[in-house]
Amino acid sequence: MSKKIRMGLVGGGPGSFIGPVHFRAAIMDGQIELVCGAFDADPEKSKAAADVYYLPRDRAYGTWQEMLDKESALPEGERMDMVSVTTPNHLHYPIAAAALDKGFHVVCEKPITISLDEAEKLAKKVEDTGLLFALTHTYTGYPMVKEAKYLVSKNQLGPIRKVVVEYPQGWLSTPLEKTGNQQASWRSNPKYNGPGGCMGDIGVHAENLAEYITGLQISELCADINSFVPGRELDDDASVLLRFEGGAKGVLWATQIAAGEENNLSIRVYGEKGGLEWRQHDPNTLLLKMLDQPVQILRAGANYGNLSEITRWNLRVPGGHPEGYIEAFANIYKNMAYAIRQRKEKLPVDPAYLDFPTVHDGVRGMRFIEKVVESATSTDKWIRF
Ligand code: NAD
Repeated sequence: MSKKIRMGLVGGGPGSFIGPVHFRAAIMDGQIELVCGAFDADPEKSKAAADVYYLPRDRAYGTWQEMLDKESALPEGERMDMVSVTTPNHLHYPIAAAALDKGFHVVCEKPITISLDEAEKLAKKVEDTGLLFALTHTYTGYPMVKEAKYLVSKNQLGPIRKVVVEYPQGWLSTPLEKTGNQQASWRSNPKYNGPGGCMGDIGVHAENLAEYITGLQISELCADINSFVPGRELDDDASVLLRFEGGAKGVLWATQIAAGEENNLSIRVYGEKGGLEWRQHDPNTLLLKMLDQPVQILRAGANYGNLSEITRWNLRVPGGHPEGYIEAFANIYKNMAYAIRQRKEKLPVDPAYLDFPTVHDGVRGMRFIEKVVESATSTDKWIRF
């Protein structure tokens, strides 16, 4: 009987946001188990997290370096197979690069690194080692986002002309970083966050979503970025005009100062024959708008035969039982686990199921962040991507 894929978690300590989400998502489908971790910047808190995650004391390490060293010395079959990196951005590169060097597959949070240079080095390392690397652009994990991609790929909308993607949040409307809020503190410091504030945090998700659904790559952009909150070093708001290869045009705006907004990510894509619309606040619905026809409401449901096979592979329950954010995350883990298992058992991998964001998406995301900042500070109207 094959064993579960063994995961080590970096981050996810007390008071953290996304590490615990990774843990829940990874174990959801019963394919992955957490076997170890370096959970916190504070070694004592990291070790104490063994009790929270129900791990043996000797598998909750004081530092991520110790975790990589000790795990790689364990026999195969006991040591972890992959590392999930859920720390603040400045640690993504050193941890992911060291994990690859030790022969571990990697799941990494976005933005992939804090510079394009680091991102490109990481991509080279993934190529050289031949290991698997998944980037958690969560929104690509939603089944109806996959259906949107499928419909575009089947030319249902005709040639794509216009993409409108928006991601407003309101939680940084005030100087939250000055109140000791953990998540706001490191995000507003370029040393830990990288060059794009709102752009690095959520603008990059919007960029990835637009390229994922359309299959088109951004070729040029023109950006305006702002820091509305006095004293804030990084942008908290941005509007970007996009040009895609092949001639499609787009508008991307993302902001963290839209007071009252939650996570109101949405995307509309229009081709010659029709358009589609998806919103994360209603993630199980995809609107299909064909020219001169009433709007069609497509709904998520593992039993719905009108949906593509790849969409149904990423669903767990029949229609009417909502799936959400953690399930979207879980789809990235499920596909990564499938890829690792096939490789371990030397079985062929069906490329249709390798459907998770990769290191190459990470490089594009990092280039996007840097180009947005460059454009906003340049007098040139358009910047090549
Ligand atoms: P957070 O501050 O809530 O948590 C970070 C965790 O990393 C903490 O437990 C902290 O102690 C730990 N950490 C820091 N240094 C460490 C070290 N040296 N060794 C071990 N652990 C260490 O941050 P967050 O909001 O969870 O964000 C973490 C990452 O996840 C960021 O890169 C962020 O961009 C990304 N993120 C992604 C999504 C998404 O939807 N994909 C959502 C939120 C955050």
